Amino acid sequence: MPGQPALEQIYMDLTESSLFERIRRAREKLGDTVVILGHHYQRDEIIQFADYTGDSLKLSQLAATREKAKYIVFCGVHFMAESADILSRTDQIVILPDMDAGCTMADMAPHRKVAWAWDIINELDDARYIPVTYINSTAAIKAFCGQHDGIVCTSSNADRVFRWALERGDKIFFIPDEHLGRNTAYRLGIPLEEMVVFNPLEDEGGLDPAALRRARIVLWKGFCSVHQRFRPEHVDRVRSLDPDIKVIVHPECAFEVVQKADYVGSTEYIIRTIRQSPPGSHWAVGTEIHLVERLAKQHPDKRIINLDMYVCLCTTMYRITPQRLAWAMDHLVRGRVVNRVAVPSNVKHWARIALDRMLELAPGAPSRP
Ligand code: 13P
Ligand code: SF4
Repeated sequence: MPGQPALEQIYMDLTESSLFERIRRAREKLGDTVVILGHHYQRDEIIQFADYTGDSLKLSQLAATREKAKYIVFCGVHFMAESADILSRTDQIVILPDMDAGCTMADMAPHRKVAWAWDIINELDDARYIPVTYINSTAAIKAFCGQHDGIVCTSSNADRVFRWALERGDKIFFIPDEHLGRNTAYRLGIPLEEMVVFNPLEDEGGLDPAALRRARIVLWKGFCSVHQRFRPEHVDRVRSLDPDIKVIVHPECAFEVVQKADYVGSTEYIIRTIRQSPPGSHWAVGTEIHLVERLAKQHPDKRIINLDMYVCLCTTMYRITPQRLAWAMDHLVRGRVVNRVAVPSNVKHWARIALDRMLELAPGAPSRP
């Protein structure tokens, strides 16, 4: 991850209300030239300034259509800002208020390792593989997929993208979230015996060549540290304490958790399902804590709790602070760009191809497990 200028002390000394005031003033001065996008896992102190909030799919679509804005301030993580840069016009500038807002899952699939895995798989098996990357990956991985007739998916449209890939090839090589890949393939009727895991930490990925040739899906061994924390015992526990409770989880959760849940889908799907549920309904939600707490605040007529008793926080999303947002906005007012995320043009070209293939498919409706 590239470095970033140090935050001036003044931002550390300001009270919360002065910081908010500063952001508001900068916003007013910048007018239509700036758009602030906020992922649902951002804290409320940031979400209040977002012109648009959304899941990864919605935010990538928004980045592609905000014509007026010269600056896209992305309150999310690095791979999201890269996607915004790839999809926006060349004269638009994408800013990530804190360059250390990465994603541990995306970091688990470096380009060098993925290219190595691709060679091994294609040496061991003559079948035609289509590489599919979750949007939670670096631009270089998206470009790799673009170059090899592959595609990007998000948690909102993974079903549709998997179908697309299986119409074009015999098998899918899915990077980097083992759980989303398994949950999606299983929902499409592919049995677990037809999935193998490529572990980049083992020789030859730990693959058994015979099992690889029998498989239809190769899953990269990567995970989200936030969602992998949820366990099937958590589902049993909330149900034993409240028989009326419905369990809704994100598809980055492990297979055993998704199988036990009542509903599964992206953050946008979770919000919509709870919003549309009748007053008095009870929900245990398996996703990042800021979203769960916001839902609980927005729906006081419903009982909404976190699926795990302990907090599941995305520490990298949390790096976007009001201090960093105020700092980035103040610099824009002074005509200076800080923390620009700019994907090199050769990477951008192929990554755009993979993203466009996804955006041409309408978002798939997430479904029950
Ligand atoms: P969605 O935004 O697609 O729901 O994914 C959640 C997530 O983990 C983002 O990093
Ligand atoms: Fe990455 Fe998980 Fe955080 Fe999403 S919630 S940014 S997948 S670590």
